[in-house]
Amino acid sequence: MYDYLIVGSGLFGAVFAYLAKQNNKTCLIIDKRAHAGGNVYCENIEGINVHKYGAHIFHTNEKWIWDFVNGFVEMNNYVNSPLALYKGQLFNLPFNMNTFYQLWGVIDPNEAQRIIADQIKDLNITYPRNLEEQALSMVGVDVYEKLIKGYTEKQWGRSAKELPSFIIKRLPLRFTYNNNYFNDKFQGIPVGGYNRLIEGLTRDIEIKLDCDYFADRPYYNGLARKVVFTGKIDEFYDYQFGELEYRSLTFRDELLPIANFQGNAVVNYTEYEVPYTRIIEHKHFEFGTQPHTVITREYPVQGYNKAMEPYYPVNDDRNNGIYNQYKSLSKQEASANVIFGGRLAEYKYYDMHQIIASAFKKAQTEFAIS
Ligand SMILES: Cc1cc2nc3c(=O)[nH]c(=O)nc-3n(C[C@H](O)[C@H](O)[C@H](O)COP(=O)(O)OP(=O)(O)OC[C@H]3O[C@@H](n4cnc5c(N)ncnc54)[C@H](O)[C@@H]3O)c2cc1C
Repeated sequence: MYDYLIVGSGLFGAVFAYLAKQNNKTCLIIDKRAHAGGNVYCENIEGINVHKYGAHIFHTNEKWIWDFVNGFVEMNNYVNSPLALYKGQLFNLPFNMNTFYQLWGVIDPNEAQRIIADQIKDLNITYPRNLEEQALSMVGVDVYEKLIKGYTEKQWGRSAKELPSFIIKRLPLRFTYNNNYFNDKFQGIPVGGYNRLIEGLTRDIEIKLDCDYFADRPYYNGLARKVVFTGKIDEFYDYQFGELEYRSLTFRDELLPIANFQGNAVVNYTEYEVPYTRIIEHKHFEFGTQPHTVITREYPVQGYNKAMEPYYPVNDDRNNGIYNQYKSLSKQEASANVIFGGRLAEYKYYDMHQIIASAFKKAQTEFAIS
């Protein structure tokens, strides 16, 4: 009999298991996939760590989270500076003075600010009625048309005029020459890949792979006093209030016999006509010097059904309403021995540092530690 059965070996499950062990509790982790690590898992292809479930860049403002991660794996000094390719023209992201120079040839930040303000003023949008108007009223026509419109419409499979404005809450503009995508103090990629972090967290903890909790729920429940569930909450409750919707993606990897394909880890393709949204060249996350390279094209998937890989929750009113019903059930007596945590059980987009903080919070309550 274990103290905890942890369903899911992703970052939430791994951090919770580590903290449980620190508190002298025994854990068994199960995962339905053939590997541990959840979505941060890397597959080593010819010496290159390929981020199998999408590019993952660790960043945080919290020193304690950075120190925690560095206790298991050395982090390199990778800084995420994506590029955008639009009809053969290359732009720096996030939108900053380099982008504005590439768009208009301006070198004076005040001039760039004036161009954007003039474009916004001419549009006369007081109450944005859809995503297009929302974005236009924040960045003006040129940035929107070249760098946002096609990318967003591909992602969602719909015209930006038909998309709700709440999808884009903020579009930060920087009037400095700074291509660093994140504002956080700490940023990097684990040297040797994310699997090392998961291995460090779960050292001496038993993990059983290829085990779906729902294949034999009574059996798995019987193995431990409590369950930490990091899978989909709607599946846990047999979809009784309906299915929660996700945005899914397809990744197509390619091993190429050349040393360098695009000179940068992340290049977004912002025109609608290119079917993928971005190309990731994984070796650049770790400054690889191999004579070959692996690239991944990322394709949006339209529609969602529960057989697909759930990536991004779609937190609109309908889905949030359904989630709240599941959440109420999770607070009732019948679920007293289950702890729900992580992105799928909480139906919430979490970055990795937020998942770590959330696992700490749950563990602190559970083990009554400060
Ligand atoms: C495309 C993409 C890119 C991202 N990029 C970044 C980034 O750059 N930086 C960043 O900080 N964060 C990023 N994230 C977020 C990051 O992936 C999450 O914060 C983190 O992986 C969540 O960990 P988790 O343990 O909650 O979930 P997961 O990693 O999904 O782990 C859940 C695990 O539970 C298992 N499981 C589910 N159901 C069952 C079951 N029935 N039985 C057994 N096992 C089960 C799954 O197989 C999985 O292994 C990105 C997310 C996506 C989707």
